[in-house]
Amino acid sequence: MSAVRAARGRVLVVGAGPAGAAAALAAAARGAEVTVVERAFAGGNAVAHSLLPSKVRIAAARDLAAAAGWGAPAGVAAGGVLAHLRWRREAARAALEARLAQAGVTLRSGAALRFEGPGRAHVAAPGGEREVAFDAAVVATGSAARLPAGLRPDGRRVLLSRDLATLADLPARAVVVGAGPTGVEIASLLSLAGAGVTLVGRGRELLPGEDAALTADLGASLAARGVEMRLGREAQAYEPGEEGVTVVLAGGERLRADALFVATGRRGETEGLGLDRLGTAPDGAGYLAVDGRGATSAPGLFAAGDVTGPPLVANKAARQGAVAGAWAARSAGGRADPEPPRLDPSTLPVAVFAQPEYARVGAVPGREGYEVVEGDDREGLRPHVSGLLGWSARLRLAVDGEGRVAGAALLGDGAAEGILALAAAVAWRMPLARLGDLVPVVPSAGEALAALVADGI
Ligand SMILES: Cc1cc2nc3c(=O)[nH]c(=O)nc-3n(C[C@H](O)[C@H](O)[C@H](O)COP(=O)(O)OP(=O)(O)OC[C@H]3O[C@@H](n4cnc5c(N)ncnc54)[C@H](O)[C@@H]3O)c2cc1C
Repeated sequence: MSAVRAARGRVLVVGAGPAGAAAALAAAARGAEVTVVERAFAGGNAVAHSLLPSKVRIAAARDLAAAAGWGAPAGVAAGGVLAHLRWRREAARAALEARLAQAGVTLRSGAALRFEGPGRAHVAAPGGEREVAFDAAVVATGSAARLPAGLRPDGRRVLLSRDLATLADLPARAVVVGAGPTGVEIASLLSLAGAGVTLVGRGRELLPGEDAALTADLGASLAARGVEMRLGREAQAYEPGEEGVTVVLAGGERLRADALFVATGRRGETEGLGLDRLGTAPDGAGYLAVDGRGATSAPGLFAAGDVTGPPLVANKAARQGAVAGAWAARSAGGRADPEPPRLDPSTLPVAVFAQPEYARVGAVPGREGYEVVEGDDREGLRPHVSGLLGWSARLRLAVDGEGRVAGAALLGDGAAEGILALAAAVAWRMPLARLGDLVPVVPSAGEALAALVADGI
């Protein structure tokens, strides 16, 4: 991107997660004087508590399970995984701090911000308090776990996904409540690590709203690894104790475990920000409504990332941050970009890093009235090479009335990597027949595409 020079308007960014970091860099690239206020960890929850720690744990569990499948002796000290995790978090934080500094962005870490009125904010840091003036601001404060009433996480019996960043030992027996992306990832991770797991979901499907045929396959894979499913069941009471925890389901079933993981949803992190002093307010779930530029209803106030509501994913956060940062720089007195960056939610890929992985982009196959065509790689070579743990790939495409690709969902090892090619097909509404021009690598998850083509799409 070529930098568009602007007058040095002051842009204040609250939060240094993927959204805040991208907003700061985008505003700085346009000549704004940018300050980022981060109360905890540069890199945000993504690096400190959610994305990075969970993915490092999942990678470790997957590699260890694969090694055990090859006959390697069991057991790498959990301390080894934790130490590695800490190192990765610090490396990611340091890389971001260096990048912000290089871009001329001022980072105020360990400082909490609250708005005082238009153009004015109050920043409280251990070294003291100060007033900050700004011409435009970007709220990128992320999201936090939403818990059932009366339930308190204690880091031992009642756990949140963020505890994956610090737990020395994973529980031997766990109940996971919530069958959305976070609950499914945790259940999958724990089962790969050899734990006994019961997964409780209020809806009848895993990953509600996603491709039901593929999520049913995913459920079957988890069940085959020993995960006990309680779908369409409501957790009604929680009884944590010294020896473990009991979850009581509607109907009276009592599930006992060493620990409970709560993954029952999230809320926007907007409490105490003083948004009312700027003349705006979040919705009941704490989320801030924004338009395609990231602008809120308050003049000069933009927002990006989880705080703007679902989908709560880092790729959306980063792109939305870049968009909001560019518009905030302009609002602060800079010039307009000849081609402002934009976020097209209809081509945003999402992934769930269960084993097998699930990824989807665009229209959800089987849900939105499109024709569905599908293929899998069972006839290909990949399952024979990498199918040690029985993972193959299944691809389903949503095709519009003109025979063009409107959506794609992929289940299988490597789905998160493979979805980008399909995102291109969705973004450019590729005619289905043109997919036959693509020749996938063997072995790869793309062999599912080859099978689909061979079947004469
Ligand atoms: C278990 C788990 C796994 C996940 N895995 C993935 C994944 O694999 N891929 C993916 O794309 N997404 C994943 N996500 C989602 C991803 O973590 C979020 O979408 C992403 O972190 C959102 O980025 P953000 O910048 O909006 O907010 P965050 O990363 O939440 O950062 C917000 C920052 O704002 C700071 N802040 C808040 N209030 C204030 C204040 N008043 N003053 C100063 N600072 C403040 C916070 O300290 C925080 O550092 C996962 C989420 C969870 C829970």
